[in-house]
Amino acid sequence: MLVTVLGFYGGYPYKGIGTSGYLLQDDGKNLLIDCGSGVLNALASYMQPTDLDEVVLSHYHHDHTADVGVLQYNWLAAKKESPLPIYGHTQDFVNFAQLTVENATKGIAYNDYEPTMIGNLKFEFLKTVHPVPAYAIRVTNQEGKVLVYTADTTYFDGLVDFAKDCDLLIADTNFPEDVTGRKAHLNTKEAGTLAKKANVKRLMISHLPQTVDVETMLKQSQKYASDVPVIHAFKGLEVEL
Ligand SMILES: [Zn+2]
Ligand SMILES: [Zn+2]
Repeated sequence: MLVTVLGFYGGYPYKGIGTSGYLLQDDGKNLLIDCGSGVLNALASYMQPTDLDEVVLSHYHHDHTADVGVLQYNWLAAKKESPLPIYGHTQDFVNFAQLTVENATKGIAYNDYEPTMIGNLKFEFLKTVHPVPAYAIRVTNQEGKVLVYTADTTYFDGLVDFAKDCDLLIADTNFPEDVTGRKAHLNTKEAGTLAKKANVKRLMISHLPQTVDVETMLKQSQKYASDVPVIHAFKGLEVEL
């Protein structure tokens, strides 16, 4: 399983780098997890967006879905034989309905009580704690390699079990450690602590802020992750699991 970071900023794009989007390639298939602002442009450096096999969306905040509309136009213009499946939750019917555009894309529902097989990949979902319904994603391939993506969330204990022993944890690390209290995202302390408690093999901090130096974010996360190696997302970063 190969994971490529297409965009990693929280909230809004900055200086040519987009918000959340991760290309996941496994067994000849190309999947996109989240489709934020700038992601379609970044994707085109690797492949034609019309060669995607599926898209999976964690939630419907704009920094995770901003490029869905233009991806739909891309598919519409290409006149493909069958529509692009876009997986989303149905806790928000208005946004879910917009995943389907005739002759372009088709919305498919996932839920958090049973796994969804997408090709040979097993997708499991866990509802997070966020101002709108959002789902963390656990992907297992046929060789048993596991990717876990927290999506957007504040810290809660259920994340530990969900991320347990995974090969790579991509964590929403939107804040430095001195941002505490009620918030919609993890800070560096929480991301690092989660990685350690869940015994993950590697932590990638992502959904990073534009306003804090990335080395500071990395250093803080590493302190709490202890012996778990921590890397920070950057555009074009590739991780093989
Ligand atoms: Zn976000
Ligand atoms: Zn969000």
